[in-house]
Amino acid sequence: MSQPQATAPRPRPVPRTVEVVAVSDVSPSYRRVRFVAPELIQADVGAAITIKLLFPNAEPGARPHGRPFTLCGFDALTGEFDVDFVLHDHAGVAVAWARQARPGATLQMFGPRGAGDATPEDARHVVLVGDATALPAIGVIASRLAPYVKADVLVEVPSLADVRPLSSPAALDVEWLVAEPGDPRPLARAVRKLPVDDVDRWWVAAELGVVREVRAHLLEERGVPAARVRATPYWKAGVDEDVFHDERHAEMDRAR
Ligand SMILES: Cc1cc2nc3c(=O)[nH]c(=O)nc-3n(C[C@H](O)[C@H](O)[C@H](O)COP(=O)(O)OP(=O)(O)OC[C@H]3O[C@@H](n4cnc5c(N)ncnc54)[C@H](O)[C@@H]3O)c2cc1C
Repeated sequence: MSQPQATAPRPRPVPRTVEVVAVSDVSPSYRRVRFVAPELIQADVGAAITIKLLFPNAEPGARPHGRPFTLCGFDALTGEFDVDFVLHDHAGVAVAWARQARPGATLQMFGPRGAGDATPEDARHVVLVGDATALPAIGVIASRLAPYVKADVLVEVPSLADVRPLSSPAALDVEWLVAEPGDPRPLARAVRKLPVDDVDRWWVAAELGVVREVRAHLLEERGVPAARVRATPYWKAGVDEDVFHDERHAEMDRAR
């Protein structure tokens, strides 16, 4: 009788050190920090775009604060990449760090990991929907689309000055939305106007309430199959990532 094979325990991921090489303001709401990760020189990161940056915890002995961000402009020859931090107005360890980041500063980082953001190869028509935190990911995803893809892109940014060119081999139809006081859901409203019939893939990332509303609209009101929708809550209003992390994963597990 064959014995069940013992599976080796997966090695615990080890964070790597990343060092700031440059800091610039791309537009009023975005600070771009260019990092170098010597361990990523010559690395094949595939389609992975998610990293977790670890920010020091002021409480002695406590775990660092992990914050997910998007790997942009990765250069395997130098191990350099950019992170575009949204300069939001709430107290957060990541935004506070980004506001005072200087060349030479170091952080620990997990990743890049995951490839769930990659567009399926057979997709012909995709829709990318995101708020300010998702714009970096939308930029990377758009840049990797095949030339035969048609992509509708809806992006909400804090101000007109945050609009930036998106380049892609695909045919992009981009609509920029600017958040107005008293209108908390421009993205969800704009999605309602989009045709759904021939869309192969919906990629949605924004604040939790917006993601829930968009997903429910697509599935329940428009009959879009759940398998065509990848909707990720990137943050939650009023709650920091230390608290929100587990809720995000529970939400995504329920959506599967
Ligand atoms: C896969 C993934 C990729 C991401 N990529 C990026 C990226 O490239 N760039 C980026 O800027 N963000 C990105 N985010 C979102 C980012 O991780 C969160 O915004 C995170 O909460 C910021 O950490 P913080 O320490 O500044 O704030 P936290 O300490 O987590 O939160 C403190 C307070 O700020 C509020 N808050 C957090 N973010 C925002 C915001 N954007 N606007 C308004 N209020 C906010 C919270 O609700 C809370 O009240 C990504 C998230 C995910 C899941």
